[in-house]
Amino acid sequence: MIVKKAYNGLKTSWKGLLITLKHFFGARKSKKLPGIQDPDYFAEDTGVVTLQYPHQKLPIPEVGRYQLHVEIDDCIVCDLCAKICPVNCIEIESIKATDVIGKTSDGSVKRLYAPKFDIDMAKCMYCGLCTTVCPTECITMTNQYDKTVWQVADLNYEFATMTEEEAEQKRLELEKQQEERRLAKLAAATKKEEDK
Ligand code: SF4
Ligand code: SF4
Repeated sequence: MIVKKAYNGLKTSWKGLLITLKHFFGARKSKKLPGIQDPDYFAEDTGVVTLQYPHQKLPIPEVGRYQLHVEIDDCIVCDLCAKICPVNCIEIESIKATDVIGKTSDGSVKRLYAPKFDIDMAKCMYCGLCTTVCPTECITMTNQYDKTVWQVADLNYEFATMTEEEAEQKRLELEKQQEERRLAKLAAATKKEEDK
């Protein structure tokens, strides 16, 4: 009985050693980097089976869904992306401009400022819905998948470029315009009453 156990022990140890030796000598070959369309994308029988990341990276699909980016100059602050997001990880604040601000690269007229445009990538489920509803196609999924951070709060990406002072200035301008319009309406109504 003891002899049989010892024999089995030696046999399995030898098998394990052979596997180790196979990979030890096979490791002289580097891992291939096949394209994503290659049927052998995940196959690696011999050689190094892991990548020397970050020096080596597997090619990723062109339509892969990775980190979001917002080209804020092309955003019309319509809020559609925030509304459709299933996990509410997009937070947008808007301030109505007193006049047309300009145009996006696709010719859409901009009438709103965005003092806040945050995307919490820690909550994002990479569904891509926000990119499909955007009328100016300014929110896109990039090929950047590695955004390692020490603090989870750093995964909250801020795309707005306005300072708090600039945002306050725009709010005041809007309030002033609204007040002027209110007074003008009041004056017009008073005059109408007097003319009766
Ligand atoms: S990809 Fe999906 S979950 Fe992520 S921000 Fe866009 S809509 Fe939200
Ligand atoms: S859907 Fe596009 S244009 Fe509208 S707020 Fe989002 S990023 Fe901006």
